Parts: sequence; structure tokens; C-alpha cells
Amino acid sequence: MPDQPHAPNTEPLTPPGISIAQFRDAGKQLVDFIADYWQSLAAVGDPSSPTAPPTTPSPHHPVAFAMPVCSTAAPGDLLRALPEACPESPEPWDAIMRDVPALIMPGITHWQHPSFFGFFPANASPAAILGELLSAGLGVQGMLWSTSPACTELEMRVLDWLAKLIDLPRDMLHEPGDARPSPGGSVIMGTASEGTLVALVAARHRSRAATTTSNPTSSPRAHVVYTSTQAHSSVIKAAMIAGLCAGPDATPADPSIIAPAPDGSHVRLVPTLPDLSMDAAALARFIDADILAGRVPIAVVATVGTTGTMAIDDVDAIGRVCQEHDVWLHVDAAFAGCAAVCPEFRWMLHARAPGALARVDSLGFNPHKWLLTNFDCHCFYTRDRAALTGALSITPEYLRNAASDAGRVIDYRDWQVPLGRRFRALKLWFVLRSVGAAGLREYIRSHVRMGEVFESLVRSDARFEVTHPRELSMVCFAPRPRQGELLADVNTRARKLLTQVNATGSAFLTHTVVPCSGGETGSRFVLRLAIGGTLTREVHVRSAWQTIAAALSKH
Ligand code: PLP
Repeated sequence: MPDQPHAPNTEPLTPPGISIAQFRDAGKQLVDFIADYWQSLAAVGDPSSPTAPPTTPSPHHPVAFAMPVCSTAAPGDLLRALPEACPESPEPWDAIMRDVPALIMPGITHWQHPSFFGFFPANASPAAILGELLSAGLGVQGMLWSTSPACTELEMRVLDWLAKLIDLPRDMLHEPGDARPSPGGSVIMGTASEGTLVALVAARHRSRAATTTSNPTSSPRAHVVYTSTQAHSSVIKAAMIAGLCAGPDATPADPSIIAPAPDGSHVRLVPTLPDLSMDAAALARFIDADILAGRVPIAVVATVGTTGTMAIDDVDAIGRVCQEHDVWLHVDAAFAGCAAVCPEFRWMLHARAPGALARVDSLGFNPHKWLLTNFDCHCFYTRDRAALTGALSITPEYLRNAASDAGRVIDYRDWQVPLGRRFRALKLWFVLRSVGAAGLREYIRSHVRMGEVFESLVRSDARFEVTHPRELSMVCFAPRPRQGELLADVNTRARKLLTQVNATGSAFLTHTVVPCSGGETGSRFVLRLAIGGTLTREVHVRSAWQTIAAALSKH
């Protein structure tokens, strides 16, 4: 029987859920909602502002003036308010949106609040948000160059722009500016944690390749990764994932060793100098001892701007040790690396030594922390792209295509852990173009000036002390011990102070615990005021200080 011709479908094509026409309106409303939210936050601390929000939240003013920085939701609050099963039938868009202020906003900690001083900031900005929206709107998955050439090439170009802004060595650029192909390059990943993981597997790949070449019959030996006692926990986590250590829980006989994996590989925690930066001489001793014991040192992770106190590892001295032993050096500059857009703060990354970065194999920093680009955006640079792709590349038939086979393009899937990837470069491009290099420098400098103001306020009150030298915009401080006061008691007062300040809801700070300095034993509980919010101004820093000083008066 001949095929019946299909009747032409006259229905307009529409995706499930809201239609494209509805999206046009709902999208505008959502942008208004976000703009109102930002205006509310920008008006905090400025009651004279014409945009000063009302005192109770509404769909148009999702944050009320009196709303605490940190969500006061109790565990399970939202879970109890949400149905246990997905709706069977479609719900009207208005009903869904009504639940945003009613259900979601109470459980939001306002990371974009100008008085958010905890952890490190998670920057965002209107330009970046639009980039994120465009990325979602285009719905691109850029695993291969051929799956959206613009996704790969925009990323290469904006990363080269940033590399030039922070004065990275030419070997880390995609286009070094001379005729030769670049040995290195860069990639946008989600987080610094991913960057460190990729660095470790690249380091292991390079080390194995070198060992096999020099001695093809050699038997596998334990690998060692070194980082300082002050490094971010993501270094140990990356080593755990890579099978380079078993994890921090096993009780070590030697506290500097993070439990060996079954093959003996482990992480070695290098002690620090009094300023809490890695002791490069101790690192050299560890490496020598490990080589003597038949182990293979593969990587050192240095930190420029530790999370606890913003300590700066000496990349020059560490790089020399790494070079001598052919060990991969990765620099984690998650927050502080952003400040290198300003020539006066560049020394942290460059270690005040011309050429220091020539001994660095990879480094990364997070524009999502301090360069106005919303989470997630980690910029990872390497001078050895072959080690990355050697460690991470695997090509099933279904990913093969002419451009990749010809070797003329970068396929970023080979530079990262996942296969798929978002078009993150758009938001960075929007930020870099709409703010400009001079704007970025001024943005960083304004926060550093606020850090200076806060430091001087702390120093002006004899009841407090600045516990660590301020670097950039982060101030570490604590109540000054009273005459004869035990360390445990001053730590209890510091902890209580932090709880009281955060309970006011008008500012949010976090803490760290660090070894005491000056030959004293024990650890100190230290408050950290990390300045870097997109909307933070001096008025918020001064107001946070008033809250802190008033809270201590109640002790
Ligand atoms: N490294 C440092 C120095 C950090 O301060 C942080 C987080 O604050 C990280 C790594 C982890 O960052 P991410 O969330 O991007 O993995």
C-alpha cells in the first residue's frame, strides 16, 4: 500500500513548558526581578537612596533593607515547604515565579550583599549575568572546536587578554606573538579545585613519560605531591581523586604526610615560615629525602594568597627547587591572582623576581572571586599543553571530525576533566569589554583601599589586634589577649565575637585557626574580613567595624 502523505502540521512549534512568546515576557520580568534585587543590595547602607528598598520583601523587592546578609533558615525549612513529588501537570509561570520570593529568597545567603565579608567573595555583575544568560540562551556545548568554533576561539582570545593584563610569560599564551606554535595555553574551568586536579594528573603524566623514556623497565614507584600546611584543602582533595593519597583521615605517624594511597603515593605538607608562607628550604629537604628513599616527587602546589591569612608563597624560591628536580610547579592564586591586573600587586604572583614564572608549569585564578565574573570561572594557564592533553585525551570514534584530525584546532575537552563544557568565555568577554582594563584595576584598588581603612580602624582600638600582616583587601584580626589571659579564653572570646557579629545580620565574616606566632605554642582563632564584593563601599566596611566594636563591648 502506498504511504499516506502526512497532513501538514500547522501548529506553531513551541518547546514544552513556557512558549517562546511567553519567554519573551517572562524573561523581561525576571531581568527586572534581578535588577530590583541588585538595586536593593546597592541601596543597603544608603537610606537616602531613591532605590532604598522597603522593609518587607515583595516580588519586586526581594531583599528588604533589614534582611540579614546570611540566611536564617533552619535545616529543612525549604524541604518542608516543597511538595514531595514533581507536579504531574504543567503549572502556570506566574505561580512558579511567586514561589521565588516566598520560598527561595528566605533560604538565600546574600553573597552579593555589600556587607558580605566571609570566605572569599563570589563576584557577579550585571554584564557577567547577561553573558551567563546568553550562554544559556545559545545552549552551546563546546567540547570540541567543531561543536561551536566561537566557544573555543573566544575563550582562547579572552584568556590571552587576561594573560597580558597580569603579565604572564608568553609561553602560556595561545598566541605567543611570534611565529612559533605555543607550547602552552589556557582554559576556563569551573573551579580552582579542578585546576589543581588537572595540574596533578598532568604532572604525573609528564613524570611517568620521563621515567619510561629514561628507563623502560623501571617498576612503578610512589609519587609525592608537596604543598604547604596552609594550602587550600582542594589540593589534598585533588590528590585523593587522582589516587595520589588516601585522604586526610588515616592517622599518620608523621603529621606532615597525608595518608599514602595503596601504592605509597602521598601528599607531604611542607612547614611554613613565620609569615605562613611555604618554607622553600624545608621543601628542598623533603624532596631530597624522598628521592633518596626511592619515591618520585611529581608536583608542588604553591599558594599565592592562602585562604586563611592571604600568605604569599615565594614562587621564585619554590620554582628553583622544582626546576632542580624536574618537578611540576602549580600556583594556586585563586583570589590574589586577580589583583595582578594592577602592576603594584603583581609581585605576589611574580615573586619580585623577573623570570620567576618561567619556572611555573601551571597557574590558576578565579575571576569569579574578584573580577566581576559570576561563578563559575577559573582561568587555568600552562606552559606545557602536551602534558595536559597527554593526561586527559581519549578519542572515541563518535568525537572524531576533520578539524580535530587535522590537528589545526584546540578541543578543550582534552584540557579538562569533563567532556562537555559551557560557553563561559561570553561572560568574561562581556566583563572585560564593558569594564575595561583600567576599570578592573580601579575595582581592585578600591577594595584594597577599603582594606587599609579597616586595618587602621582595628589598629586604632587597643582591645583588638591585627594578627597577620594585611595583604590586599583581607584583614585578619582578633581580640587582644588581656593581661594574663589564657590562649583558650581569648580564642573563646574571638569565637563568641564572630557569632555575635554574624547574628546581627548586618555583616557576615568567617574565621580561620592558625598556629601562634612568636614561639608561642597552640593555635589562634582569627576573624577574617575579606573585602571584594561588587557592591561593597567604604561605608559598609566602616559599618561592619562599628558592629564588631559594639559586639566586643558587650563581652
Ligand atoms: N584555593 C584557594 C586559595 C582558595 O581560597 C579556594 C577557595 O576559596 C580554593 C582554592 C577553592 O576554590 P574553588 O571553589 O574555585 O575550587
